Amino acid sequence: MADVERWRREFPFLDGDNPAAYLDNGASTQKPRAVIERMRQFAGHEYANVHRGIHELSERSTAVYEGSRERARKFFNAATAESIVFTRGTTEAVNLVAFAWGGQNVKSGDTILLTEMEHHSNMVPWQQLAARTGATIKYVPVLENGAGLDLDAARTLLAERPRIFAFTHISNTMAVENPVKDLCLLARENGVTTLIDAAQSAAHIPVDVQEIGCDFLACSAHKMCGPTGIGVLYGRHEILAQMPPWQFGGEMVDRVEFTGAKFRPPPARFEAGTPAIIESAGLHAALDFVDSVGLESIAAHSSALAEYAAEKLRALPGVRVFGPSGERAHLVTFAVEGVHAHDLAFFCNDRRVAIRAGHHCAQPLMRKLGAPASARASFHFYNTPAESDRLVDAIAEAIRFFNP
Ligand code: PMP
Repeated sequence: MADVERWRREFPFLDGDNPAAYLDNGASTQKPRAVIERMRQFAGHEYANVHRGIHELSERSTAVYEGSRERARKFFNAATAESIVFTRGTTEAVNLVAFAWGGQNVKSGDTILLTEMEHHSNMVPWQQLAARTGATIKYVPVLENGAGLDLDAARTLLAERPRIFAFTHISNTMAVENPVKDLCLLARENGVTTLIDAAQSAAHIPVDVQEIGCDFLACSAHKMCGPTGIGVLYGRHEILAQMPPWQFGGEMVDRVEFTGAKFRPPPARFEAGTPAIIESAGLHAALDFVDSVGLESIAAHSSALAEYAAEKLRALPGVRVFGPSGERAHLVTFAVEGVHAHDLAFFCNDRRVAIRAGHHCAQPLMRKLGAPASARASFHFYNTPAESDRLVDAIAEAIRFFNP
């Protein structure tokens, strides 16, 4: 990407003197000035609670909050703003669907279809739903070394008509981008509802919910240059309109009697209590920022960096790189024979390279692949080949130190 240095200057953390190489973007991204400043301005001068006050400040604040919803609608090309529910993040969005939609639609004897490459947040809520209802969970297996999903198995499992197929767009460990459009089409042909975990894809590749054809899609603002504490659940409006609420209280009710309550239509029905108002202003600014960088360039830049790192890491002795051998999404997960992943991360940290080590919230998959602990470097549009080289140099040094 031509403008990396220009974009780096927009981030206080990256604009300093010799900053650490931040290669933990899969966990969360750094925040640009535009997001920080927008939240500061809003909190300092425009803030009040939303949807309640008759006073001008509350009306303005409500307009900002609902404006962020419209901005998210546009970003994901949803048909209506009423399809956009603000949640705390991906995890809460999946829990919302598992409770509200799952409680209504999943019964004993039904199947819930996931994949082996899911993050715990798109696995544990479904396991709990299965335990509550007596449903069974099945998993689409991954190919050798996590190189992708077994799509033949997916076809067979979808033909068995599970109630829902919940799967990740980009794997946070395997750097695989799943063919979401084809899988949603296949699901639709079999009458299967779909949920896409877009936590890793939403600010890395273009995500168009109408083109993908999913029923639900979940993501977190903090992985998109936005603040923590807010995320988006997209739901097809016809489905949201049929779903009961899952949390109860103020804001989500139309009329309350001593004996009961009538609920508002979506999205308000799913946003009980005071929402993340300041964070919604930050999310708006983050989406503007990501769009100004351009998702096509972000995708090309961050996956080229991951491929570059994967190639260099593979050439080191005893290194096993997971996922596809060629094209990959913006990250690289790897293990080194004889060196624990935590030692690799400590070694990198000493050389001011920030990477992730552990199971990456995908314990079942990493155990299946025989690497309960591994290291992961994840890139974004503000990372550089020089930072990738710093990673590879640190890992090479660690190998020489631990495996002399
Ligand atoms: N799904 C995937 C694929 C993820 O990478 C993550 C975050 N690591 C999550 C879900 C959970 O996101 P959050 O913690 O923001 O809810």
